[in-house]
Amino acid sequence: MALLFHSKIKRNDWWREELSKKVPGLEVRFYPDIGDPDDIEFALCFAMPHGVLGKLKNLKAVFSLGAGVDHIFEDPDYPRHVPIARVVDPELTDRMSEYVLQHVLNHHRYQHLYDEQQRKQVWKEKHAPAARNRKVGILGLGALGTGSAETLRKMNFDVAGWSRSPKSIDGVTTFHGPKQLDAFLARTEILVCLLPLTDETTGILNKDLFQKLPEGAALINPGRGPHLNEQELIDALDSGHLSAATLDVFHTEPLPAESPLWNHPRVRVTPHVASIASPGRVTELAAKNIELARAGKPLLNQVDPDKGY
Ligand code: NAP
Repeated sequence: MALLFHSKIKRNDWWREELSKKVPGLEVRFYPDIGDPDDIEFALCFAMPHGVLGKLKNLKAVFSLGAGVDHIFEDPDYPRHVPIARVVDPELTDRMSEYVLQHVLNHHRYQHLYDEQQRKQVWKEKHAPAARNRKVGILGLGALGTGSAETLRKMNFDVAGWSRSPKSIDGVTTFHGPKQLDAFLARTEILVCLLPLTDETTGILNKDLFQKLPEGAALINPGRGPHLNEQELIDALDSGHLSAATLDVFHTEPLPAESPLWNHPRVRVTPHVASIASPGRVTELAAKNIELARAGKPLLNQVDPDKGY
């Protein structure tokens, strides 16, 4: 029984030791050292090069190293009959909630304005409303969106969320489906994108959506780079319609040196660090899912290939 591993972060000995401890008899191979492809029953990966998974004819399940699975579905040769599991984990949710809270507070308290004023030695007050009068909207009310909404509620922000299906979350105004998107946007002063990347959500953060936000709204995108039309964001900032943006994810990562986002005075860039799953938890979930897959049972946190998340 062998598992093929691929990640951008190289800690091969650690992963081998942890996985072998938790799954006795499991041989861990690291891409590109696949060995005999017929031995491989499982893959644990982030951004496995396209075409590799499709060549593993005894593959029983694929485990994403993170919450997102777009990196698997975007492989045109991905074998669709093989189940995929993703990471859902309280620590991952806590880290994302911290990121969202940190940057909602920055926008709520006009930090970009004070950064600019400090560079020019300008002393000029702009007081923020109380949190209860600040409307924050979260696109996506899954594990991370719900956790972030609950954290913001604890700070008394006026929080709303938008999802595909109806939701009920204590103290959070909920909207769902394309028909309710405009009403959600019209009341959102700080917009947070925590959608998965699918055909339906690619490019959702575009000029039409920005126009539906109130003047002066801010954007936080820790979802995925292709959710955002970067040029249309810059246009919306330059026209003054949007006040500022915080971006953690980009079309191309690392963000290319020539990107105008690096030096835009009202854009804050973070290098795809909003949240990460703890390796201990990832190996625990993989071990449990290997047991389930071998028993022919559904996986924990199994994704729906038709929905794409
Ligand atoms: P999740 O539990 O699958 O939740 C996704 C949410 O989006 C659900 O509420 C879903 O609605 C909603 N949604 C999906 N498609 C929609 C559509 N077409 N219209 C309206 N709502 C839609 O995902 P998660 O665990 O919260 O993670 C969300 C994303 O965060 C990941 O996919 C990944 O891209 C990103 N992420 C980023 C980082 C980072 O460091 N930057 C780290 C981890 C994750 P339903 O509930 O009705 O299905």
